[in-house]
Amino acid sequence: MAERILTGIKPTGQLTLGNYIAVLKNLKKTNERGECFIFIADLHALTLPIDPAVLRQNSIDLAAFYLAAGLDPNKSAMFLQSSVSAHAELNAIMQNYLYMGELSRMTQFKDKSAKLKENAIGLGLFAYPVLMACDIVLYDANIIPVGEDQVQHIELTRDLVNRFNNRYGNILTMPKAELRKVGKRIMSLSDPSVKMSKSDPKGDVFLKDEPAVIRKKIMSAVTDMGCEVKYDPENKPGISNLIQIYCAMKDIEIPEAEKLFEGYRYGDFKKAVADAVIEELEPFQNRYKEIIANKSYEAVLKQGAEKASKIANETLKRIQKAVGLLQLD
Ligand code: ATP
Ligand code: MG
Repeated sequence: MAERILTGIKPTGQLTLGNYIAVLKNLKKTNERGECFIFIADLHALTLPIDPAVLRQNSIDLAAFYLAAGLDPNKSAMFLQSSVSAHAELNAIMQNYLYMGELSRMTQFKDKSAKLKENAIGLGLFAYPVLMACDIVLYDANIIPVGEDQVQHIELTRDLVNRFNNRYGNILTMPKAELRKVGKRIMSLSDPSVKMSKSDPKGDVFLKDEPAVIRKKIMSAVTDMGCEVKYDPENKPGISNLIQIYCAMKDIEIPEAEKLFEGYRYGDFKKAVADAVIEELEPFQNRYKEIIANKSYEAVLKQGAEKASKIANETLKRIQKAVGLLQLD
């Protein structure tokens, strides 16, 4: 089966190096592999309180970042989730095929709801994986590039596909998570026991940070006891995180980096990591600034929504028919 690739990011905050490594770094290559659907998950961004002006600005930024990463509008459809109404329509159907017990086991829900007052946890935060499953199945996507934290949601989507297809026939396409070999979970630079996250920034490298700020953040990243640059996430979580970042930037594997940094002091190693990140992000930031200035993302988003809607509406019809919703045309 040909590759249908789908990936999205929520415009919940400033994009981080974790998001870059999971999705943006490979976007150009992803474009060359098959048909791509790249979206701004703005409906998902409403699952936690967010200021409307901030959400709008984050959405623009994200569109510009996708383009700066090398998204080719002729090969990919780039669109806002909210401008393809089939996502919300399918959600109304699919919420009946995932169960509350399953949803309450999702670690992301547990983590994010733990930070809220018990009487202010939105239903959307709980039901988030249902909408995410809809995002995926609407495009018959089979490859979903994500970071490790999203694997549990993709597994749930796979359960849904199985459940739905067992009941109605072969209606939905089975998706698969695709993880980077190195850099599946980039950790906070100030606390390597927690994931770098844009909605809860703590030791994050932001894609908009000036090179001098990036350097400062990496140079002051938490390291560990000892002095060897060795990959050992359990005993050396700080250094292991920096090794992952270096490998992801250079597209190399961990043993190669360990060999490269044999005999290095932590300070010199950190300098090399900072250089690698800046070397990668500086030209990317310049492209982003150009795109923001010329607003080329606007036309791309409109064209993307048209292409995505056409495909999503066809899938929606197929599903509506399968479950017994009367079709009058
Ligand atoms: P939020 O805090 O709003 O959940 P986030 O930084 O987790 O923000 P998402 O929009 O949830 O970002 O995820 C976008 C993509 O980035 C997903 O594929 C996710 O798995 C990936 N991702 C997020 N954080 C990291 C990280 N620290 N390391 C690797 N991948 C990540
Ligand atoms: Mg997240």
